Amino acid sequence: MAGLTEIVKQLLGKNAMCDHCLGRQFAALGTGIENGHRGMVLRQGALLDAHGVLKEKAEALSDPLVIASKEFVIGQAASGHPLAMRLAKQLNVVVPGTGVERNAGQTTTRDVAIPPAVMGGVITDADLKIPWEWDGCALCGGVFSRRVQDIAVGLARHLGSSIEFHSFLVGSRFSTSVLEREEEMRVERDLKWGELIKSHFNRFVGAAISKALDKPVDFKNPDIVLLFSIENKDSIGLEEQINPYFIYGKYRKLVRGIPQTHWPHRACRGAGCEGCNFTGKQYQESVEDLITPPFLSHTGGTALRFHGAGREDIDALMLGEGRPFVVEILNGKKRTLDYVALEAAVNAAGGGKVEVAGLRPSTNDEMQALKGEAPDTRKRYKATCTLEKPIDDATLMSIKEQLEGARIDQQTPQRVAHRRADKTRHKHVYAVTWERVENPLEIVFYIEAEGGTYIKELISSDEGRTRPSISGLAGQKMACKTLDVLEVRK
Ligand SMILES: [Zn+2]
Ligand SMILES: [Zn+2]
Repeated sequence: MAGLTEIVKQLLGKNAMCDHCLGRQFAALGTGIENGHRGMVLRQGALLDAHGVLKEKAEALSDPLVIASKEFVIGQAASGHPLAMRLAKQLNVVVPGTGVERNAGQTTTRDVAIPPAVMGGVITDADLKIPWEWDGCALCGGVFSRRVQDIAVGLARHLGSSIEFHSFLVGSRFSTSVLEREEEMRVERDLKWGELIKSHFNRFVGAAISKALDKPVDFKNPDIVLLFSIENKDSIGLEEQINPYFIYGKYRKLVRGIPQTHWPHRACRGAGCEGCNFTGKQYQESVEDLITPPFLSHTGGTALRFHGAGREDIDALMLGEGRPFVVEILNGKKRTLDYVALEAAVNAAGGGKVEVAGLRPSTNDEMQALKGEAPDTRKRYKATCTLEKPIDDATLMSIKEQLEGARIDQQTPQRVAHRRADKTRHKHVYAVTWERVENPLEIVFYIEAEGGTYIKELISSDEGRTRPSISGLAGQKMACKTLDVLEVRK
């Protein structure tokens, strides 16, 4: 394998490129430096190497190494690289199309701007525009430049005036021709240390935006993704992709007959039809429907996803402390919220049917845990039951003793069999107490059971599909008339 300097000289001899794009071809070599500086070091090393050859063999004009070195310096000088131009001048070689002197007293037309330092004194970083940026770069055409960094910062800053974000990630789209050109070159030159232009660009502008806006780049969980589309150095677009965020709370449902979440009309699947009066809803209201508008108006979001820690039946109340839930705000423009004002607005919208409390910021992890935790959660219910005949205390005591701590086998209830897999679930009952009411053919049970227990079936037995059941233990038919959830806890 040829030495690195030789590879760089051959590469630059065929493909004119800026320091950033040169360095990117060797991104896997060295660590802790950016591609621009990597490219700068490689190019200057190659120029110094060529200079050494030309000094050593000044008289051997037909030596292939001398010819190649001279061509390399000329090529680099012709592209306007200041160090190469200075070398060309010192070596008194002809550089077409530049202001470098051909012979004493004669100069060609200057159609390339030459920094004054080229002609004397020490070349500074500013003269070199280190790392060397070049609009003539065959790979990026000047996209890797301070100017483009400034454009990207300006676009991000402008976006920040209408969308609140505290962290971000940069993504980019280049035209396929740009990607293909680089890929072809790598195959042709057998370069195997390169990095994708997209990842390089994302880091290049990401660092500039982070510094200018004083916001961190977050690879795992950014508030927003800034997606740049790069046509060329003068045509750069920005689209944003706002990531969802989460709000935790507990809700109480104070009326019967409304489901927890939005329920599309079965007949039209939510499209709207005569049967649902073109609302698309099976139930006109749900906990989710009632609380959605204030959440959206306070966050500037476009939609909301409701995640409850389990759910009560449509005809059950949710009382006590309330049931934990997390809402996921999609496309929220605001992230710093007044939770007290939000809570008041949600409760006003709830119209006495739904109340929320304890709103606070949440996370995706908490939402996932909340959805997954139903089996481990304990819930306390109040079930008002109808009886065939009055029931005595001894029977009630026997039911309590046999159920507390018992494992219940529940085959999927007939009433939900159309939407749940038919299987047998094992649930635990922790506590059973009762309260007599005026009507001797009714009784109230307070049941504490594992999350996911079908309480109505625990009472009725669902024609023997739940075993044991209160009905079975009582030796008479019983039905759950009303069911309220009093408490949901871990
Ligand atoms: Zn470039
Ligand atoms: Zn409909």
